[in-house]
Amino acid sequence: MDRKYPRDRAAHRVGPVGQSLRWALTLVMTWALVWPPLAQADRTQLKPGWNMFSAQQDIEVGQQVSKEAEQQLRMLNDRRVDNYLNNLGRKLAGKAPGEKYPYQFKVVNDRAINAFALPGGPVYINRGIIEAADNEAQLAGVIAHEISHVALRHGTNQASKASAAQLPLAILGGLLGSNSVGATLAQLGASFAVNSILLKYSRTAETQADTMGTQILYDSSYDARAMAQFFEKIQAQDQGGQPVEFFSNHPNPDNRIQNVNQEIDNLGGARRGYNTNSREFDDIKRYVRSLPTPPAQGQPLQADSGRNDGGGQGSRPEWPSNRSVSVENSLLRMNHPDNWQAYGQGDAMTITPRGGMVDDGNGNQALAYGVIVNIYEPHQDRYGQQLQGPGYGQGSGQGSRQDSHALLDQATDQLIQELRQSNRNMRVVRPHEDISVNGSAATSTYLSNDSPLGGRETNWLVTLQRPEGLLFLVFTAPDRDFQSYERAFQQMLYSVRINR
Ligand code: ZN
Repeated sequence: MDRKYPRDRAAHRVGPVGQSLRWALTLVMTWALVWPPLAQADRTQLKPGWNMFSAQQDIEVGQQVSKEAEQQLRMLNDRRVDNYLNNLGRKLAGKAPGEKYPYQFKVVNDRAINAFALPGGPVYINRGIIEAADNEAQLAGVIAHEISHVALRHGTNQASKASAAQLPLAILGGLLGSNSVGATLAQLGASFAVNSILLKYSRTAETQADTMGTQILYDSSYDARAMAQFFEKIQAQDQGGQPVEFFSNHPNPDNRIQNVNQEIDNLGGARRGYNTNSREFDDIKRYVRSLPTPPAQGQPLQADSGRNDGGGQGSRPEWPSNRSVSVENSLLRMNHPDNWQAYGQGDAMTITPRGGMVDDGNGNQALAYGVIVNIYEPHQDRYGQQLQGPGYGQGSGQGSRQDSHALLDQATDQLIQELRQSNRNMRVVRPHEDISVNGSAATSTYLSNDSPLGGRETNWLVTLQRPEGLLFLVFTAPDRDFQSYERAFQQMLYSVRINR
């Protein structure tokens, strides 16, 4: 590194030296002594947050979940591309501060612009990222961002917070004392969609990953602005009506570019002689673009396992098509799979596949698969009173949430109370998380409920404030199918454009 250079040179010059040389030597040594501590002191120091897992357990969790992930994803499995990515990834990971995790980098054969990292080291980059990046520094920026999520242990930090908030104390005690990560995951999996809790980051986590990612780029002699430039570019695409999957798990933090530029200033400004591109990147990008387009993701990959084991509850609807059509009502416009149908009028809308509505046994049509969109008007009196009462401003125990989020959470809680009146066994399994919908602050909550098909279902509730009231979307599927539908649900949510 830089700071060794002047010292080494000084060592060579020990011995009888002339006056001017002595002066030059003093200057070099002074610079060597003073400059590096200043630069170190100015960089933002980041540390992982509270965690009930050990670093070793992060590695075990990541290995276990990566097996499941690789069964569900289409991996590119191309040695040339994986080698290139691993060389680049290892170079960057070598600059990550803190615990040294066994990083692994793999390419997913998916043209959607997305990337994710699992605890303890596995990093997955969609081929769409390589195809969309303008240069190696931008690709390095995405990888550095993912490495930062691992180094800062964001996945298990979130799982820790969620389980502390949700699991009964007995289980929590077992978790903390348990040596078996498999058992721990099984317990978590009983209550939550494990994968999504490990992967959906808060905006604070995003800002941290941006800051550390910038440091890693800088320390690896890449153009430190490249990561933010890439995110800015795909954000423009997202806002231009082509939803970008990356933002589904990595919500866009506020002031992204300003934060990155601030950190570059902290590091002492743009580095001289930084790298932006390599011929190797151009070759790999050209090669990846020439590979055949992956087959459509219209069906879940494990189509042969557990397809018709519905416990005699009748046949499942067709899987969501990967072609979408657009629907609009008074509140919003959104896309849905073209083999689903939208019903309703005014503010209320139900979008469901054929066979997604079933008789609940009392002659009522109940939604088993699909999404409900509607407006809920919180009771002003109760709402106002609650805001004065204890707990105001504390959200759901997460401490630093802003007032607007606390308001949104309280209105959401009121809606959940209302829903419970007609769904007695409904309960919250994953508390409020801040997300963004079409640029507006929104809250994501996961609920578990009796399915009208028997067994349990997952309800993914997304709420946001509108002048008309609380706009909510409830995405629903039986537990056994929820993961297979989640991607379609996410794509629907990211396609939402609010009528303003
Ligand atoms: Zn991120």
